[in-house]
Amino acid sequence: MKGSLFIFNTLTRKKEKFIPINPPFVGMYVCGPTVYNDVHIGNVRTFISFDVLYRYLLHAGYKVRYVRNITDVGHLVNDADHGEDKIAKKARLENLEPMEVVQQYTNSFHFVLQLFNTLPPSIEPTATGHIIEQIEMIETILKNGYAYTKNGSVYFDVEKYSQMHHYGKLSGRITEELIANTRSLEGQEEKKSPLDFALWKNAEPSHIMKWKSPWGIGFPGWHLECSVMSTKYLGETFDIHGGGMDLKFPHHECEIAQSVAAENTEPAKYWIHGNMLTVNGQKMSKSLGNSFTATQLINGTHPMLEKAYEPMSVRFFMLQSHYSSTLDFSNEALQASEKGFRRLVNAITLLETIQPSESGSINTDELEKKCYDAIQDDLNTPILIAHLFDAAKTINLLYDKKEIATKEQIETLKSVFKNFFFDILGLQTETDNNNSDKTNGIMNIILNIRKKARENKDFSTSDFIRDELKKLHIIIKDSKEGALWEYEK
Ligand code: AMP
Ligand code: ZN
Repeated sequence: MKGSLFIFNTLTRKKEKFIPINPPFVGMYVCGPTVYNDVHIGNVRTFISFDVLYRYLLHAGYKVRYVRNITDVGHLVNDADHGEDKIAKKARLENLEPMEVVQQYTNSFHFVLQLFNTLPPSIEPTATGHIIEQIEMIETILKNGYAYTKNGSVYFDVEKYSQMHHYGKLSGRITEELIANTRSLEGQEEKKSPLDFALWKNAEPSHIMKWKSPWGIGFPGWHLECSVMSTKYLGETFDIHGGGMDLKFPHHECEIAQSVAAENTEPAKYWIHGNMLTVNGQKMSKSLGNSFTATQLINGTHPMLEKAYEPMSVRFFMLQSHYSSTLDFSNEALQASEKGFRRLVNAITLLETIQPSESGSINTDELEKKCYDAIQDDLNTPILIAHLFDAAKTINLLYDKKEIATKEQIETLKSVFKNFFFDILGLQTETDNNNSDKTNGIMNIILNIRKKARENKDFSTSDFIRDELKKLHIIIKDSKEGALWEYEK
C-alpha cells in the first residue's frame, strides 16, 4: 500500500501526517457510552466513524490496540459536577441494581454496534473496574499541587494549572470568558472557581455507587476515568484519542489537564473528533427528544421514520458524509443512500459473472490509487464512495457487454471492492439480521398463510409451515397479538 494517512488533529487544528509514536504499534482510545439507556443513532455515527479509522489502520498493517471504555459510574445528570448519577437514577426509576442497568445497556450497545458491523475494541474497560487507579491518579495530582480537597471531595484547580499550562488548548476556550459566562449553579459553592471540576465527589448517604477513599466515601469524577484507563492500557502518551465533537469541552480538555497535572505530559498525540448527527439542524440527543434507537430504525417504529431501514444502508448513509461534517438525518436522504447502496451491492454481484477478454476497453489503472488517496486524505469516505460508484458504472457496462476487461482488470475491480467496500468501509452485502424489512415482509406473508389455514381448520398446512420453519431454526410463537417469530437461540 502506498501513501500515508493525513488526519485532522483538533489539537493543532491542522491536517497532519499520521506518524505513530512506536510503529508498527498504534494506541487508540475512544470515549465509549454511558450505559444508562439504549444508544441512539447519533451515538452510533461516532462509533462508526472511529470504526473506519480502526479498519483503515488494521488494513495499513499497524498493530492497533483499540481501547473504548464503558462509563458505568461518575457521569452525573446534565454532565454536572453535582447531583444524581445517570445510572443510579435509572436504577432508582426502574427499581433495578445499578449493575443490572449497566449490564443491560452494555449488552444492547454491543448488539447495536454488531448490527452496524463495527469491530469490537481490543479492550473495553469500565470505570467501576478502575476505582483504585483513579484514586491513585487523584493522589498524584494532589501531590503535584493541582487539586484541593473540600468536605470529602477533591477538585481540580484550573487557575493553578493555568499559571503553568494552557487550559483551553484543545477546545480553544478562553478561561476568562468561561468564567464570565458561568452562572452560579447549585453545587458550585465548594469550588474555588466555577471552572474547577470534580476528581472525587463525597457521596451523600442516599448515593448508591460509592467507594472508600483517602477523602472519605465517594465516587470518581467523570473526566478522570478516561485519563486513567487510556494511559493504563496505552501508556502515558499514546497515538490517538477520539470521541464526538461534543466531548471536546469540557471532557477532553479536562483529560489533558489531568494528565499534564499528574505526569507532566499530554496523553495523546492526535485528537480526533467526529461530528454530530443532527435532525433538522439540531444535534440528535435523548434529552431533546429528537432521537431514536437502532432497533426503532431497523423496525421503522418511530414517528420520525417513514419505513424500516437496513443497518448497512444506514452505515452507508453515514459514510457518504465526511466524519468531521455534521450529517442531517432525513427519510429522503436515507432513502437516496439506500438506493445508492443497492447499486453498489448489485455491481458487486454482477462482477462475479464477468468473463475476461484478451484485451480491455476500460481503464482501471488509477482506480486503486484514487481510492487510497481519498481514504488517506483525512478519511474522505464520500470521495472514496464516489470512486466506488464509478467502478460500479464500469461493471454495469461490462455486464451489458458495452465494454470488455482483461483478467487483471477484473481482479483490480474485485480487489478494490474487497479492500475498500468490505475491509475499510466495513460494509456488508448481506445482513444477518432477523429484523431486515425483506425478511420481515416474507415472514408476514408466511404467517398470514398459516393464520388463514388455522382459521379454516387446515391444521396439516399450519403444522407443516411451523415444522418446516423449525428446520430453518425459525420459531413461531402464538400469542394474543397473533403469531410472532424469532430465530432459535
Ligand atoms: P454519551 O453516552 O452521551 O457520552 O455519548 C457517547 C458518544 O456518542 C460520545 O462520543 C458522543 O460524543 C457521541 N454522540 C452523542 N450524541 C451524538 C450525535 N447526535 N451525533 C454523533 N455523536 C454523538
Ligand atoms: Zn471519555
